[in-house]
Amino acid sequence: MHHPAPLEIVIAGGGTAGWMAAATFARFLGNTAKITLVESDAIGTIGVGEATIPQIHNLLIGLGIDQRDFLRRTNASFKLGIEFVNWLRPGESYIHSFGQVGRGVGLIPFRQLWLRGRALGVAGDYGDYSANVAAARRGSFAIGDGGGNLPDLAYAYHLDATLFAQMLRAYAEERGVRRVEGTIEGVKRDQDNGDIIALRLDGGRSVTGTFFIDCTGFRSLLLGAALDVPFEDWTRWLPCDTALAVPCENSGPPRPYTQSIAHQAGWQWRIPLQHRTGNGHVFCSAFTSVDQASATLLGNLEGKPLADPRPIRFTTGRRQTPWAHNCVALGLAAGFMEPLESTSIHLVQSGIGRLLNLLSGDLTDMTASRDTFNRLSDIEWRRIRDFLVLHYVANDRVGEPFWDHCRSMALPDTLQEKLAVFRETGAFMREEDELFLDDSWAQVMLGQGVAPRAHSPLADNVDARELGPFLDTVAKACRLKAEALPPHAAFIAHMIGEQRMQSA
Ligand code: FAD
Repeated sequence: MHHPAPLEIVIAGGGTAGWMAAATFARFLGNTAKITLVESDAIGTIGVGEATIPQIHNLLIGLGIDQRDFLRRTNASFKLGIEFVNWLRPGESYIHSFGQVGRGVGLIPFRQLWLRGRALGVAGDYGDYSANVAAARRGSFAIGDGGGNLPDLAYAYHLDATLFAQMLRAYAEERGVRRVEGTIEGVKRDQDNGDIIALRLDGGRSVTGTFFIDCTGFRSLLLGAALDVPFEDWTRWLPCDTALAVPCENSGPPRPYTQSIAHQAGWQWRIPLQHRTGNGHVFCSAFTSVDQASATLLGNLEGKPLADPRPIRFTTGRRQTPWAHNCVALGLAAGFMEPLESTSIHLVQSGIGRLLNLLSGDLTDMTASRDTFNRLSDIEWRRIRDFLVLHYVANDRVGEPFWDHCRSMALPDTLQEKLAVFRETGAFMREEDELFLDDSWAQVMLGQGVAPRAHSPLADNVDARELGPFLDTVAKACRLKAEALPPHAAFIAHMIGEQRMQSA
Protein backbone atom coordinates (compact mmCIF):
# COMPACT_ATOMS: atom_id res chain seq x y z
CA MET A 1 0.00 0.00 0.00
CA HIS A 2 1.23 3.50 -0.89
CA HIS A 3 1.80 5.81 2.09
CA PRO A 4 2.24 9.43 1.02
CA ALA A 5 5.11 11.29 2.66
CA PRO A 6 3.94 13.64 5.43
CA LEU A 7 3.72 17.30 4.46
CA GLU A 8 6.76 18.91 6.05
CA ILE A 9 7.10 22.41 4.68
CA VAL A 10 10.40 24.20 5.08
CA ILE A 11 10.46 27.92 4.31
CA ALA A 12 13.91 29.31 3.59
CA GLY A 13 14.03 33.02 4.44
CA GLY A 14 12.01 35.25 6.75
CA GLY A 15 11.39 38.52 4.92
CA THR A 16 7.90 39.65 4.00
CA ALA A 17 7.55 36.68 1.62
CA GLY A 18 8.74 34.06 4.12
CA TRP A 19 6.53 35.23 6.96
CA MET A 20 3.51 35.74 4.68
CA ALA A 21 3.92 32.13 3.59
CA ALA A 22 4.47 30.91 7.16
CA ALA A 23 1.41 32.75 8.49
CA THR A 24 -0.86 31.57 5.67
CA PHE A 25 0.30 27.96 5.78
CA ALA A 26 -0.07 27.93 9.57
CA ARG A 27 -3.62 29.24 9.20
CA PHE A 28 -4.71 26.88 6.42
CA LEU A 29 -2.42 23.84 6.68
CA GLY A 30 -1.59 23.97 10.38
CA ASN A 31 -3.53 20.82 11.16
CA THR A 32 -1.83 18.66 8.55
CA ALA A 33 1.61 20.09 7.90
CA LYS A 34 4.70 20.60 10.00
CA ILE A 35 6.02 24.06 9.13
CA THR A 36 9.57 25.30 9.76
CA LEU A 37 11.09 28.63 8.76
CA VAL A 38 14.84 29.20 8.59
CA GLU A 39 16.23 32.73 8.57
CA SER A 40 19.37 34.57 9.43
CA ASP A 41 19.27 37.73 11.54
CA ALA A 42 22.82 38.45 10.41
CA ILE A 43 21.79 38.54 6.74
CA GLY A 44 18.58 40.50 7.39
CA THR A 45 15.78 41.40 5.01
CA ILE A 46 15.45 43.86 2.16
CA GLY A 47 13.37 46.06 4.52
CA VAL A 48 11.47 47.97 1.83
CA GLY A 49 8.14 47.14 0.20
CA GLU A 50 5.61 49.37 1.85
CA ALA A 51 2.85 50.12 -0.66
CA THR A 52 0.14 47.59 -1.43
CA ILE A 53 -2.89 47.13 -3.65
CA PRO A 54 -6.46 46.33 -2.53
CA GLN A 55 -5.98 42.56 -2.91
CA ILE A 56 -4.13 42.67 0.41
CA HIS A 57 -7.55 42.65 2.09
CA ASN A 58 -7.90 39.00 1.06
CA LEU A 59 -4.73 38.17 2.96
CA LEU A 60 -5.77 40.03 6.12
CA ILE A 61 -9.31 38.66 6.03
CA GLY A 62 -8.03 35.15 5.30
CA LEU A 63 -5.74 35.33 8.31
CA GLY A 64 -8.51 36.86 10.43
CA ILE A 65 -6.37 39.91 11.28
CA ASP A 66 -8.32 42.77 12.83
CA GLN A 67 -7.96 45.94 10.77
CA ARG A 68 -7.43 48.27 13.73
CA ASP A 69 -4.84 45.96 15.18
CA PHE A 70 -3.10 45.84 11.79
CA LEU A 71 -3.08 49.67 11.54
CA ARG A 72 -1.60 49.99 15.02
CA ARG A 73 1.04 47.32 14.64
CA THR A 74 2.34 48.30 11.19
CA ASN A 75 1.93 52.10 11.48
CA ALA A 76 -0.12 51.83 8.30
CA SER A 77 -1.96 54.54 6.43
CA PHE A 78 -4.62 54.21 3.72
CA LYS A 79 -3.93 54.29 0.01
CA LEU A 80 -6.44 55.36 -2.64
CA GLY A 81 -4.10 55.07 -5.61
CA ILE A 82 -0.86 56.46 -6.97
CA GLU A 83 -0.20 59.98 -8.20
CA PHE A 84 2.16 59.98 -11.18
CA VAL A 85 3.93 63.33 -11.29
CA ASN A 86 5.98 64.48 -14.31
CA TRP A 87 5.66 61.11 -16.05
CA LEU A 88 4.07 62.39 -19.23
CA ARG A 89 6.16 65.55 -19.11
CA PRO A 90 7.35 67.90 -16.35
CA GLY A 91 4.44 69.77 -14.78
CA GLU A 92 1.80 67.12 -15.62
CA SER A 93 0.28 64.69 -13.14
CA TYR A 94 -2.53 62.20 -12.91
CA ILE A 95 -3.77 59.68 -10.37
CA HIS A 96 -4.11 55.99 -11.05
CA SER A 97 -6.83 55.36 -8.50
CA PHE A 98 -8.23 52.11 -7.24
CA GLY A 99 -11.85 51.34 -7.92
CA GLN A 100 -14.28 52.40 -10.54
CA VAL A 101 -14.12 55.48 -12.74
CA GLY A 102 -17.53 56.84 -13.71
CA ARG A 103 -20.68 54.87 -14.28
CA GLY A 104 -21.65 53.10 -17.49
CA VAL A 105 -25.17 53.33 -18.88
CA GLY A 106 -26.57 49.87 -19.56
CA LEU A 107 -24.08 48.18 -21.84
CA ILE A 108 -22.32 51.43 -22.74
CA PRO A 109 -18.98 51.68 -20.92
CA PHE A 110 -18.45 54.97 -19.09
CA ARG A 111 -15.22 55.65 -20.94
CA GLN A 112 -17.00 55.69 -24.28
CA LEU A 113 -19.49 58.23 -22.97
CA TRP A 114 -16.62 60.28 -21.61
CA LEU A 115 -14.76 60.13 -24.95
CA ARG A 116 -17.83 61.36 -26.77
CA GLY A 117 -18.37 64.02 -24.11
CA ARG A 118 -14.82 65.15 -24.60
CA ALA A 119 -15.29 65.41 -28.34
CA LEU A 120 -18.39 67.53 -27.68
CA GLY A 121 -16.50 69.70 -25.18
CA VAL A 122 -18.71 68.75 -22.22
CA ALA A 123 -16.37 66.40 -20.31
CA GLY A 124 -13.80 67.21 -17.63
CA ASP A 125 -10.61 65.26 -16.86
CA TYR A 126 -11.07 61.51 -16.64
CA GLY A 127 -10.08 61.65 -12.97
CA ASP A 128 -13.03 63.98 -12.24
CA TYR A 129 -15.25 60.91 -12.40
CA SER A 130 -13.43 58.91 -9.73
CA ALA A 131 -14.45 59.28 -6.08
CA ASN A 132 -11.01 57.97 -5.13
CA VAL A 133 -9.31 60.77 -7.04
CA ALA A 134 -11.62 63.36 -5.49
CA ALA A 135 -10.87 62.05 -1.97
CA ALA A 136 -7.15 61.82 -2.69
CA ARG A 137 -7.02 65.43 -3.91
CA ARG A 138 -8.78 66.57 -0.70
CA GLY A 139 -6.63 64.36 1.53
CA SER A 140 -9.75 62.74 2.97
CA PHE A 141 -10.59 59.13 3.70
CA ALA A 142 -13.03 56.92 5.57
CA ILE A 143 -14.40 53.44 5.25
CA GLY A 144 -18.01 52.45 5.34
CA ASP A 145 -19.51 55.93 5.57
CA GLY A 146 -22.00 55.20 2.76
CA GLY A 147 -21.72 58.85 1.66
CA GLY A 148 -22.93 59.75 -1.86
CA ASN A 149 -24.51 57.27 -4.21
CA LEU A 150 -21.25 55.64 -5.27
CA PRO A 151 -19.85 52.46 -3.77
CA ASP A 152 -17.35 52.67 -0.91
CA LEU A 153 -13.86 53.80 -1.84
CA ALA A 154 -11.52 51.04 -2.93
CA TYR A 155 -8.33 51.18 -0.89
CA ALA A 156 -5.12 49.49 0.14
CA TYR A 157 -2.44 50.36 2.70
CA HIS A 158 0.99 51.83 3.12
CA LEU A 159 2.74 49.82 5.82
CA ASP A 160 6.06 49.51 7.60
CA ALA A 161 7.61 46.40 5.99
CA THR A 162 9.67 45.45 9.05
CA LEU A 163 6.73 45.78 11.41
CA PHE A 164 4.52 43.84 8.99
CA ALA A 165 6.98 40.93 8.91
CA GLN A 166 7.17 41.01 12.73
CA MET A 167 3.39 40.89 12.97
CA LEU A 168 3.20 37.93 10.61
CA ARG A 169 6.00 36.20 12.48
CA ALA A 170 4.15 36.49 15.80
CA TYR A 171 1.00 35.20 14.10
CA ALA A 172 2.82 32.21 12.57
CA GLU A 173 4.74 31.30 15.72
CA GLU A 174 1.56 31.44 17.82
CA ARG A 175 0.13 28.87 15.42
CA GLY A 176 2.99 26.43 15.71
CA VAL A 177 5.52 27.48 13.05
CA ARG A 178 9.02 26.59 14.24
CA ARG A 179 11.66 29.24 13.54
CA VAL A 180 15.27 28.20 13.13
CA GLU A 181 17.96 30.86 13.28
CA GLY A 182 20.91 30.06 11.05
CA THR A 183 22.70 30.52 7.76
CA ILE A 184 21.72 28.29 4.89
CA GLU A 185 24.89 27.02 3.22
CA GLY A 186 23.35 24.72 0.66
CA VAL A 187 20.82 21.96 0.11
CA LYS A 188 20.85 18.17 0.09
CA ARG A 189 19.12 16.58 -2.87
CA ASP A 190 17.66 13.17 -3.50
CA GLN A 191 20.12 11.33 -5.73
CA ASP A 192 17.35 9.66 -7.75
CA ASN A 193 14.88 12.41 -8.54
CA GLY A 194 16.81 15.57 -7.64
CA ASP A 195 14.21 16.79 -5.13
CA ILE A 196 15.44 18.80 -2.16
CA ILE A 197 15.48 16.72 1.03
CA ALA A 198 17.14 19.14 3.45
CA LEU A 199 18.68 22.58 3.94
CA ARG A 200 22.29 22.49 5.11
CA LEU A 201 22.91 25.11 7.79
CA ASP A 202 25.99 26.52 9.48
CA GLY A 203 27.49 24.44 12.27
CA GLY A 204 26.80 21.20 10.41
CA ARG A 205 23.08 21.42 11.16
CA SER A 206 20.35 20.51 8.68
CA VAL A 207 16.59 20.95 8.39
CA THR A 208 14.74 18.21 6.54
CA GLY A 209 11.41 18.52 4.78
CA THR A 210 9.25 17.20 1.96
CA PHE A 211 8.31 20.54 0.36
CA PHE A 212 10.45 23.69 0.26
CA ILE A 213 9.58 27.35 -0.19
CA ASP A 214 12.41 29.58 -1.36
CA CYS A 215 11.99 33.04 0.19
CA THR A 216 15.71 33.87 0.34
CA GLY A 217 15.31 37.15 -1.54
CA PHE A 218 17.53 38.14 -4.48
CA ARG A 219 19.92 35.28 -3.58
CA SER A 220 17.33 32.70 -4.67
CA LEU A 221 19.36 30.07 -2.85
CA LEU A 222 17.09 27.11 -3.58
CA LEU A 223 15.41 27.74 -6.93
CA GLY A 224 18.22 29.70 -8.53
CA ALA A 225 21.48 28.55 -6.92
CA ALA A 226 20.65 24.92 -6.06
CA LEU A 227 18.09 23.93 -8.70
CA ASP A 228 19.61 26.13 -11.37
CA VAL A 229 16.35 27.50 -12.77
CA PRO A 230 17.34 30.15 -15.34
CA PHE A 231 16.59 33.83 -14.83
CA GLU A 232 14.73 35.60 -17.63
CA ASP A 233 16.10 39.11 -17.89
CA TRP A 234 13.53 41.84 -18.70
CA THR A 235 15.93 44.76 -18.61
CA ARG A 236 15.29 45.53 -22.26
CA TRP A 237 11.77 46.61 -21.30
CA LEU A 238 12.34 47.85 -17.77
CA PRO A 239 15.88 49.27 -17.81
CA CYS A 240 16.11 50.62 -14.23
CA ASP A 241 18.57 48.60 -12.16
CA THR A 242 19.16 50.46 -8.88
CA ALA A 243 17.09 51.86 -6.06
CA LEU A 244 18.11 54.19 -3.26
CA ALA A 245 15.85 54.02 -0.22
CA VAL A 246 15.66 56.52 2.64
CA PRO A 247 12.98 57.24 5.23
CA CYS A 248 12.28 60.81 6.30
CA GLU A 249 10.20 62.58 8.92
CA ASN A 250 6.63 63.41 8.00
CA SER A 251 6.27 67.06 7.08
CA GLY A 252 2.48 67.11 7.43
CA PRO A 253 -0.47 64.76 7.64
CA PRO A 254 0.03 61.63 5.50
CA ARG A 255 -1.46 61.74 2.02
CA PRO A 256 -3.95 58.92 1.35
CA TYR A 257 -2.04 57.91 -1.78
CA THR A 258 1.45 57.02 -2.98
CA GLN A 259 3.41 59.49 -5.08
CA SER A 260 5.59 58.47 -7.97
CA ILE A 261 7.61 61.36 -9.31
CA ALA A 262 9.53 61.00 -12.57
CA HIS A 263 13.10 62.33 -12.59
CA GLN A 264 15.84 62.59 -15.19
CA ALA A 265 16.74 58.85 -15.22
CA GLY A 266 14.02 57.15 -13.24
CA TRP A 267 11.46 57.97 -10.59
CA GLN A 268 10.97 58.54 -6.89
CA TRP A 269 8.42 57.05 -4.54
CA ARG A 270 6.90 58.73 -1.49
CA ILE A 271 5.03 56.38 0.79
CA PRO A 272 3.48 58.15 3.78
CA LEU A 273 3.09 56.14 7.00
CA GLN A 274 1.78 57.26 10.37
CA HIS A 275 5.22 57.89 11.84
CA ARG A 276 7.45 58.60 8.82
CA THR A 277 7.56 58.67 5.03
CA GLY A 278 9.31 56.00 2.98
CA ASN A 279 11.19 57.43 -0.01
CA GLY A 280 13.19 55.87 -2.76
CA HIS A 281 14.66 56.65 -6.13
CA VAL A 282 14.56 53.92 -8.78
CA PHE A 283 16.90 54.71 -11.64
CA CYS A 284 18.89 53.37 -14.55
CA SER A 285 22.62 53.44 -13.83
CA ALA A 286 23.45 53.78 -17.53
CA PHE A 287 21.89 57.27 -17.46
CA THR A 288 22.88 58.65 -14.06
CA SER A 289 25.32 57.99 -11.21
CA VAL A 290 24.52 56.90 -7.66
CA ASP A 291 25.78 60.26 -6.39
CA GLN A 292 23.59 62.19 -8.76
CA ALA A 293 20.57 59.99 -8.01
CA SER A 294 21.22 60.36 -4.30
CA ALA A 295 21.34 64.15 -4.61
CA THR A 296 18.07 64.09 -6.56
CA LEU A 297 16.42 61.95 -3.89
CA LEU A 298 17.67 63.99 -0.94
CA GLY A 299 16.74 67.21 -2.75
CA ASN A 300 13.18 65.98 -3.12
CA LEU A 301 12.43 64.81 0.41
CA GLU A 302 9.64 66.62 2.20
CA GLY A 303 11.08 66.05 5.67
CA LYS A 304 14.41 65.50 7.46
CA PRO A 305 16.11 62.25 6.36
CA LEU A 306 16.23 59.61 9.07
CA ALA A 307 19.16 57.67 7.54
CA ASP A 308 21.58 57.77 4.64
CA PRO A 309 20.21 56.60 1.27
CA ARG A 310 20.75 52.85 0.97
CA PRO A 311 21.49 51.50 -2.53
CA ILE A 312 19.80 48.30 -3.71
CA ARG A 313 20.91 46.80 -7.04
CA PHE A 314 18.48 44.64 -8.96
CA THR A 315 17.89 43.00 -12.31
CA THR A 316 14.32 43.06 -13.52
CA GLY A 317 12.98 39.69 -14.57
CA ARG A 318 11.96 36.36 -13.18
CA ARG A 319 12.96 32.75 -12.75
CA GLN A 320 11.51 30.85 -15.68
CA THR A 321 9.66 28.34 -13.51
CA PRO A 322 8.94 29.44 -9.94
CA TRP A 323 8.08 25.82 -9.09
CA ALA A 324 10.84 23.27 -9.81
CA HIS A 325 11.05 19.79 -8.24
CA ASN A 326 9.53 20.10 -4.75
CA CYS A 327 10.37 23.78 -4.37
CA VAL A 328 8.36 26.96 -5.01
CA ALA A 329 10.00 30.39 -4.90
CA LEU A 330 8.06 33.38 -3.60
CA GLY A 331 9.01 37.05 -3.41
CA LEU A 332 12.36 38.28 -4.64
CA ALA A 333 13.64 34.71 -4.97
CA ALA A 334 11.11 34.27 -7.79
CA GLY A 335 11.93 37.54 -9.54
CA PHE A 336 11.56 41.28 -9.33
CA MET A 337 9.71 44.07 -11.04
CA GLU A 338 10.22 47.59 -9.75
CA PRO A 339 7.61 48.85 -7.28
CA LEU A 340 5.95 51.26 -9.73
CA GLU A 341 2.49 49.75 -9.18
CA SER A 342 3.19 48.10 -5.80
CA THR A 343 2.77 44.57 -7.10
CA SER A 344 5.48 42.50 -5.35
CA ILE A 345 3.68 41.76 -2.09
CA HIS A 346 0.63 40.90 -4.14
CA LEU A 347 2.65 38.47 -6.27
CA VAL A 348 3.77 36.73 -3.08
CA GLN A 349 0.16 36.53 -1.97
CA SER A 350 -1.15 35.19 -5.26
CA GLY A 351 1.71 32.65 -5.40
CA ILE A 352 0.72 31.42 -1.93
CA GLY A 353 -2.94 31.22 -2.95
CA ARG A 354 -2.15 29.31 -6.11
CA LEU A 355 0.06 26.90 -4.22
CA LEU A 356 -2.54 26.32 -1.51
CA ASN A 357 -4.99 25.31 -4.21
CA LEU A 358 -2.58 23.05 -6.08
CA LEU A 359 -0.78 21.35 -3.22
CA SER A 360 -1.79 17.72 -2.76
CA GLY A 361 -1.72 15.59 0.37
CA ASP A 362 0.30 13.14 -1.71
CA LEU A 363 3.47 14.71 -3.09
CA THR A 364 4.53 11.63 -5.09
CA ASP A 365 3.93 13.18 -8.50
CA MET A 366 3.04 16.88 -8.74
CA THR A 367 3.88 17.32 -12.43
CA ALA A 368 0.49 18.61 -13.59
CA SER A 369 0.07 20.97 -10.64
CA ARG A 370 3.58 22.26 -11.12
CA ASP A 371 3.02 22.93 -14.82
CA THR A 372 -0.24 24.74 -14.11
CA PHE A 373 1.37 26.83 -11.36
CA ASN A 374 4.22 27.82 -13.64
CA ARG A 375 2.00 28.63 -16.62
CA LEU A 376 -0.37 30.80 -14.59
CA SER A 377 2.49 32.58 -12.84
CA ASP A 378 4.08 33.29 -16.18
CA ILE A 379 0.92 34.92 -17.51
CA GLU A 380 0.44 36.93 -14.33
CA TRP A 381 3.98 38.31 -14.32
CA ARG A 382 4.00 39.16 -18.03
CA ARG A 383 0.74 41.08 -17.84
CA ILE A 384 2.00 43.12 -14.89
CA ARG A 385 5.29 43.71 -16.70
CA ASP A 386 3.39 45.09 -19.70
CA PHE A 387 1.47 47.47 -17.46
CA LEU A 388 4.71 48.79 -15.95
CA VAL A 389 6.34 49.18 -19.36
CA LEU A 390 3.36 51.28 -20.50
CA HIS A 391 4.28 54.00 -17.96
CA TYR A 392 7.74 54.33 -19.46
CA VAL A 393 7.10 53.96 -23.14
CA ALA A 394 4.28 56.48 -23.40
CA ASN A 395 6.17 59.55 -22.25
CA ASP A 396 6.60 62.92 -23.83
CA ARG A 397 9.87 63.92 -22.13
CA VAL A 398 11.56 64.59 -25.43
CA GLY A 399 15.27 65.42 -25.34
CA GLU A 400 16.02 63.60 -22.08
CA PRO A 401 18.24 60.60 -22.95
CA PHE A 402 16.69 58.11 -20.52
CA TRP A 403 13.13 58.97 -21.55
CA ASP A 404 14.04 59.08 -25.24
CA HIS A 405 15.46 55.59 -24.80
CA CYS A 406 12.23 54.41 -23.15
CA ARG A 407 10.09 55.78 -25.97
CA SER A 408 12.15 53.92 -28.53
CA MET A 409 12.15 50.50 -26.81
CA ALA A 410 10.81 47.54 -28.79
CA LEU A 411 7.67 46.49 -26.91
CA PRO A 412 6.38 43.06 -25.95
CA ASP A 413 3.75 42.02 -28.56
CA THR A 414 1.09 41.79 -25.90
CA LEU A 415 1.56 45.43 -24.92
CA GLN A 416 1.86 46.54 -28.53
CA GLU A 417 -1.57 45.10 -29.21
CA LYS A 418 -3.18 46.65 -26.13
CA LEU A 419 -1.84 50.07 -27.10
CA ALA A 420 -3.08 49.69 -30.66
CA VAL A 421 -6.57 48.63 -29.58
CA PHE A 422 -6.79 51.53 -27.14
CA ARG A 423 -5.72 53.99 -29.82
CA GLU A 424 -8.32 52.61 -32.25
CA THR A 425 -11.32 52.43 -29.93
CA GLY A 426 -10.47 53.44 -26.36
CA ALA A 427 -11.23 49.85 -25.39
CA PHE A 428 -9.37 47.50 -23.11
CA MET A 429 -10.16 43.79 -23.11
CA ARG A 430 -9.07 41.91 -20.01
CA GLU A 431 -7.26 38.68 -20.79
CA GLU A 432 -6.44 35.61 -18.78
CA ASP A 433 -7.37 36.86 -15.33
CA GLU A 434 -4.85 39.66 -15.49
CA LEU A 435 -4.43 41.73 -12.34
CA PHE A 436 -5.04 45.25 -13.60
CA LEU A 437 -8.51 45.94 -14.91
CA ASP A 438 -9.96 48.24 -17.51
CA ASP A 439 -10.00 51.37 -15.32
CA SER A 440 -6.35 50.95 -14.32
CA TRP A 441 -5.13 50.60 -17.88
CA ALA A 442 -7.34 53.45 -19.07
CA GLN A 443 -6.17 55.85 -16.35
CA VAL A 444 -2.53 55.18 -17.15
CA MET A 445 -3.05 55.21 -20.93
CA LEU A 446 -4.86 58.55 -20.77
CA GLY A 447 -2.53 59.92 -18.11
CA GLN A 448 0.43 59.06 -20.32
CA GLY A 449 -1.18 60.78 -23.29
CA VAL A 450 -2.33 57.73 -25.28
CA ALA A 451 -5.38 59.15 -27.04
CA PRO A 452 -8.11 57.02 -28.68
CA ARG A 453 -8.90 58.15 -32.26
CA ALA A 454 -12.67 58.00 -31.78
CA HIS A 455 -15.32 56.86 -29.38
CA SER A 456 -17.35 53.72 -29.92
CA PRO A 457 -20.65 54.13 -31.77
CA LEU A 458 -22.20 52.61 -28.64
CA ALA A 459 -21.89 56.02 -27.00
CA ASP A 460 -24.07 57.55 -29.72
CA ASN A 461 -27.03 55.81 -28.13
CA VAL A 462 -27.20 58.62 -25.57
CA ASP A 463 -28.75 61.90 -26.64
CA ALA A 464 -26.00 64.50 -27.06
CA ARG A 465 -28.01 67.03 -24.99
CA GLU A 466 -28.16 64.61 -22.08
CA LEU A 467 -24.48 63.73 -22.08
CA GLY A 468 -23.14 66.90 -20.41
CA PRO A 469 -25.67 66.82 -17.53
CA PHE A 470 -25.04 63.09 -17.06
CA LEU A 471 -21.28 63.57 -16.81
CA ASP A 472 -21.80 66.53 -14.43
CA THR A 473 -23.96 64.35 -12.17
CA VAL A 474 -21.32 61.64 -11.99
CA ALA A 475 -18.53 64.13 -11.24
CA LYS A 476 -20.65 65.88 -8.62
CA ALA A 477 -21.40 62.60 -6.84
CA CYS A 478 -17.65 61.96 -6.60
CA ARG A 479 -17.00 65.43 -5.19
CA LEU A 480 -19.82 65.17 -2.67
CA LYS A 481 -18.60 61.82 -1.49
CA ALA A 482 -15.08 63.19 -0.97
CA GLU A 483 -16.43 66.28 0.84
CA ALA A 484 -18.37 64.07 3.25
CA LEU A 485 -15.22 62.28 4.39
CA PRO A 486 -12.95 63.27 7.30
CA PRO A 487 -9.25 64.08 6.81
CA HIS A 488 -7.19 60.95 6.31
CA ALA A 489 -5.09 61.56 9.44
CA ALA A 490 -8.21 62.01 11.57
CA PHE A 491 -9.63 58.76 10.29
CA ILE A 492 -6.42 56.89 11.09
CA ALA A 493 -6.44 58.38 14.58
CA HIS A 494 -10.05 57.30 14.97
CA MET A 495 -9.21 53.77 13.83
CA ILE A 496 -6.26 53.38 16.14
CA GLY A 497 -8.24 54.90 18.98
CA GLU A 498 -6.47 58.23 19.44
CA GLN A 499 -9.33 60.64 18.84
CA ARG A 500 -12.83 60.93 17.47
CA MET A 501 -13.47 61.64 13.80
CA GLN A 502 -14.35 65.14 12.63
CA SER A 503 -15.51 66.42 9.26
CA ALA A 504 -12.96 67.67 6.69
P1 FAD B 1 13.98 39.58 1.68
O1 FAD B 1 13.29 40.66 2.43
O2 FAD B 1 15.31 39.89 1.08
O3 FAD B 1 14.13 38.36 2.67
C1 FAD B 1 15.05 37.32 2.42
C2 FAD B 1 15.15 36.45 3.64
O4 FAD B 1 16.01 35.36 3.35
C3 FAD B 1 15.71 37.16 4.87
O5 FAD B 1 15.05 36.71 6.04
C4 FAD B 1 17.17 36.66 4.90
O6 FAD B 1 17.70 36.68 6.19
C5 FAD B 1 16.96 35.25 4.38
N1 FAD B 1 18.19 34.69 3.84
C6 FAD B 1 18.84 35.01 2.70
N2 FAD B 1 19.96 34.26 2.57
C7 FAD B 1 19.98 33.43 3.64
C8 FAD B 1 20.87 32.41 4.08
N3 FAD B 1 21.98 32.10 3.40
N4 FAD B 1 20.59 31.79 5.23
C9 FAD B 1 19.49 32.08 5.97
N5 FAD B 1 18.61 33.03 5.58
C10 FAD B 1 18.86 33.69 4.44
N6 FAD B 1 6.77 45.44 -2.86
C11 FAD B 1 5.54 45.95 -2.75
O7 FAD B 1 4.56 45.21 -2.78
N7 FAD B 1 5.37 47.30 -2.61
C12 FAD B 1 6.40 48.16 -2.63
O8 FAD B 1 6.19 49.36 -2.47
C13 FAD B 1 7.69 47.63 -2.81
N8 FAD B 1 8.78 48.45 -2.87
C14 FAD B 1 10.01 47.90 -3.09
C15 FAD B 1 11.12 48.73 -3.28
C16 FAD B 1 12.36 48.18 -3.58
C17 FAD B 1 13.53 49.08 -3.83
C18 FAD B 1 12.53 46.78 -3.62
C19 FAD B 1 13.87 46.18 -3.90
C20 FAD B 1 11.44 45.97 -3.42
C21 FAD B 1 10.19 46.52 -3.18
N9 FAD B 1 9.09 45.70 -3.04
C22 FAD B 1 7.84 46.23 -2.91
C23 FAD B 1 9.25 44.27 -3.01
C24 FAD B 1 9.22 43.79 -1.58
O9 FAD B 1 10.21 44.45 -0.82
C25 FAD B 1 9.50 42.31 -1.56
O10 FAD B 1 8.63 41.69 -2.46
C26 FAD B 1 9.19 41.76 -0.22
O11 FAD B 1 9.82 42.48 0.79
C27 FAD B 1 9.62 40.33 -0.16
O12 FAD B 1 10.99 40.23 0.02
P2 FAD B 1 11.53 38.81 0.29
O13 FAD B 1 10.91 38.33 1.56
O14 FAD B 1 11.34 38.00 -0.91
O15 FAD B 1 13.09 39.01 0.47
